[in-house]
Amino acid sequence: VAQDVVALEDVPPFERSSVDGFAVISSDVIGASTQTPVRLTISGEILMGKPASGALRPGHAMHIPTGGALPTGADGVIKVEDTRESEGHVEVLDGRGVRDHVTARGADVHRGDALRKAGDVLTAAALGMLAGAGHAGVSVYKKPVVGLLVSGDELVEPGRPLRDGEIRDTNSISLLAALRAMGCAPHLYPRVVDRREALTRAFAQALHDSDAVVVSGGSSVGERDYTPAVVAAAGTPGVIVHGVRAKPGRPTLLGVIGDKPVIGLPGNPVSALVMLETLGKPILLRLLGKRDETVPVRARLAHTIDVHPGLEHRIPVQFVKDGDDFTAVPLLGTSAQMRVLGFADALVIVPEGMGIMEAGSWVDALPLTRSGGLR
Ligand code: AMP
Ligand code: MG
Repeated sequence: VAQDVVALEDVPPFERSSVDGFAVISSDVIGASTQTPVRLTISGEILMGKPASGALRPGHAMHIPTGGALPTGADGVIKVEDTRESEGHVEVLDGRGVRDHVTARGADVHRGDALRKAGDVLTAAALGMLAGAGHAGVSVYKKPVVGLLVSGDELVEPGRPLRDGEIRDTNSISLLAALRAMGCAPHLYPRVVDRREALTRAFAQALHDSDAVVVSGGSSVGERDYTPAVVAAAGTPGVIVHGVRAKPGRPTLLGVIGDKPVIGLPGNPVSALVMLETLGKPILLRLLGKRDETVPVRARLAHTIDVHPGLEHRIPVQFVKDGDDFTAVPLLGTSAQMRVLGFADALVIVPEGMGIMEAGSWVDALPLTRSGGLR
């Protein structure tokens, strides 16, 4: 949501009954019990969605349904189970708690209550709450359009035969799904061949069409890794970061052209997705004023992690229920092995300089963004 939102109306908008029964005047039913019932004259019925036809007078009661509006004069409701009805009269068999079955106007939400702050996420329940408080619409951020360029001569989409030397294009699908799940509107361009002019042209087009650009592949320092040169030549300020002291995803590139962020991801499927999740996501969320809501999950480490202390490591983990706790099972392997991430629920960060995290220790795992699908 792009604005602070306050309630336009009291919820509920009138004093109402929380049970099926009889609207009464509470002083009429004090002390009523099975032994000493209080007899009241039934003087009408409250209908849903309608005000009472008249005021309730002493010695009288009105039928009232759950959610019905209390008539003027009434200040209590007796549950139908605590009454005995006969020919125009009702006997109240229990007068205790008569006021408890009345919900005050505004008991849920008061007009003017703060319901959302700009940057908050509108969950299904939040949408219901805003509608319930009178909002027919609120202003929201437009989803940032993110151009997605995937490069690599070796890549073949699933559904087509693989020839010798070719591999499946993983990132077109995984990055598209991740971007969508993060709240962006990704646009996938045709695959870019490993030629500098091809990337230059595709990048210019994506930059023109989008609020941000994500490039997969060619971000390293190989002979055919054109992303750094293409981003540098595309405008100012250009490349801001090239190379991150973290694993996976060391050769990641971050840039800005004009006011548009550029995220250059390594082609290895695990690196690409982990870096989009950890470096890319906060950048993209800022485009829509959304705070990063990833809440860490505390879990016990199932096995020792032992990695090179010279880098920060992001270790994919799978949550496995273990009695009342969850354990985090590290999924180890290379950044080319999609299995490592394919079964992961979250990432555990091993800070630079640490290297070892003992089995059994408690860790904060950052859940991966759940997929929002491809369309
Ligand atoms: P690159 O970053 O282009 O040097 O690619 C690094 C490694 O990731 C190479 O082994 C590529 O074949 C592989 N790779 C690059 N792009 C993709 C992709 N979209 N899907 C799967 N693997 C990829
Ligand atoms: Mg490549």
